[in-house]
Amino acid sequence: MFTVSVARLKKAPAEERRYHLTGRIAALPGAGGEPVPVVSPVELELGITNAGDFLWAVGDVKAAVRLTCSRCIKEFLLQIEGRFEEKYRLHGDAPAGGNEEVAFAADELDFTGQVTETLMLSLPMKPLCHEDCKGLCAVCGRDLNTGKCSCPQEVGDPRFAVLARLKE
Ligand SMILES: [Zn+2]
Ligand SMILES: [Zn+2]
Repeated sequence: MFTVSVARLKKAPAEERRYHLTGRIAALPGAGGEPVPVVSPVELELGITNAGDFLWAVGDVKAAVRLTCSRCIKEFLLQIEGRFEEKYRLHGDAPAGGNEEVAFAADELDFTGQVTETLMLSLPMKPLCHEDCKGLCAVCGRDLNTGKCSCPQEVGDPRFAVLARLKE
């Protein structure tokens, strides 16, 4: 899906090629393992440079996902984006004693793995529908973004109790 042919570029030192690829990924694994639906096509802007000894690829990935707010449990859409970089060797031998694993450049390079991983890393740890989402009332469960409920407020936050005692 996110595959490009680099057969010509491999023979052209100092050349750079740019690609725009679009594909579909149904869902990403979320932080807790739950699937996060991807609701737009996934876009990849890719630049690959022949740097002599290796191909150097830089990809910018974008997609819209549907998340559940961690405070008010409403679903909302979020545009996520991220960048990856990858190197591919152009010559036979791996660098002696090198500790980084660099794959050999085939004539076709498939970036589907990098695209998926980049999007996964761009998912927020604590999704919020808005930065100042007020969440749900812990007592009656009302969505506090839509108005106040009549439950008693400050149901004893222990930190406030400690401060009050210190003041006395
Ligand atoms: Zn929310
Ligand atoms: Zn309430």
